[in-house]
Amino acid sequence: MAQGNGKARDERPFIISGGGIGGLATAYALAHKGFPVRVIEQAAEFREVGAGIQLGPNIFRALARIGLKDAVLADAHVPTGMEMRDAITGKVITQIPLGTQCQGRFGEPYAVTHRHDIHAVFLNACRGNNLVTLENNQRVDAYEDHGDHVSVILASGERIEGRALIGCDGMWSQIRDRIVGDGKPRVSGHIAYRAVIKREDVPKDLWRPDVVLWAGPRTHFVHYPLRRGELYNLVAVFHSDHYEEGWNAEGSKELLWEHFKGEVPQVLRMLERIETWRMWVLCDREPVKNWSKNRVTLLGDAAHPMLQYLAQGACMATEDAVILSEKVAEQPDDIPAAFIAYQNARYLRTARVQIMARVYGEFYHARGPTAELRDMMLSARTLEQSYEGIAWLYDGP
Ligand SMILES: Cc1cc2nc3c(=O)[nH]c(=O)nc-3n(C[C@H](O)[C@H](O)[C@H](O)COP(=O)(O)OP(=O)(O)OC[C@H]3O[C@@H](n4cnc5c(N)ncnc54)[C@H](O)[C@@H]3O)c2cc1C
Repeated sequence: MAQGNGKARDERPFIISGGGIGGLATAYALAHKGFPVRVIEQAAEFREVGAGIQLGPNIFRALARIGLKDAVLADAHVPTGMEMRDAITGKVITQIPLGTQCQGRFGEPYAVTHRHDIHAVFLNACRGNNLVTLENNQRVDAYEDHGDHVSVILASGERIEGRALIGCDGMWSQIRDRIVGDGKPRVSGHIAYRAVIKREDVPKDLWRPDVVLWAGPRTHFVHYPLRRGELYNLVAVFHSDHYEEGWNAEGSKELLWEHFKGEVPQVLRMLERIETWRMWVLCDREPVKNWSKNRVTLLGDAAHPMLQYLAQGACMATEDAVILSEKVAEQPDDIPAAFIAYQNARYLRTARVQIMARVYGEFYHARGPTAELRDMMLSARTLEQSYEGIAWLYDGP
């Protein structure tokens, strides 16, 4: 097909390594702008493991730009508020409304959803767009950047040609190794245990429609409803030097109990409900400024892995996807420049989330006078001050 300027249009697809939330959001966002895309996923199927995730108003602003906001909201739960309590005394530290007041201030809702549900929205959108090709059971092993296109070499030995390569291959990205070369992720020393149970399995007096966070010394515990209120999500985080590479191993109950045993009965009764916990060793990386090189770029956890304390990893990956597609659409004939424009639009915002997530983690797990100081500062804040404190994040992208 010829372009208006007489140049032959490059019909080769963008190749995306990784079909997680970031990879599928990017595939759909690019296809939505009219670009062909080929997604290569190493797993046997396109599926998200894990539990609930929180979605700040910023992700809905990004989703609206690709027409997927209502689809994500359809299965989500909109909590009435966020409450932080002391896990030793049970005292309320702060309460922030998240329903209509939050929507009024930020113009978008705050919601919680199952990772599977938001991933399924992107997957269905990709399946419904004939510019997207999805391939699983294939691993990206290497690539060659030829200046005017890329060759991607799969573990099967197959070589595929593309217009460019986008590494959405997560925290342990191989593509990052070549572009940034900063070795393994930083192990934070924090471990998350996650579980999802049915609403009827939550003790009646403990079920809450809001997001509740119990802050304890070197621990915190969060719970909230999922999937229109039919499920309930539990996340317990504690400090430990236990290390296991990768995600989603089974977590030992004894290790969990050791860290939470002194906490209030509401916490212990909820923890007792869980038979099988999945465990994540939490890692992140130092922020970097350059994650694009010629026709190859990174996105989501591959570009800026962060701790989950601001609940923003999937939100940032989705914002990345939308902005990348917009930058590519602005200059489709100069992909290296579009990738640099995308990176420049993103790196300070994502660096701020990476750094602030660490600060929030320290705050949640504080002990002694630091915890007292936290409680004093948070409980003295007005609603306006609470909203303004997080506006740098929720007012974007
Ligand atoms: C405990 C916890 C709680 C969280 N809570 C929240 C929250 O409340 N809100 C929020 O927004 N975020 C949250 N997050 C973060 C969020 O889950 C991640 O940031 C997000 O899922 C990253 O998506 P991604 O697509 O970049 O990477 P991943 O989800 O890691 O996807 C990478 C994909 O690439 C594939 N892959 C890897 N290498 C290759 C290869 N060589 N070839 C082909 N495929 C490959 C993998 O199989 C995988 O499917 C949380 C994370 C944790 C651990």
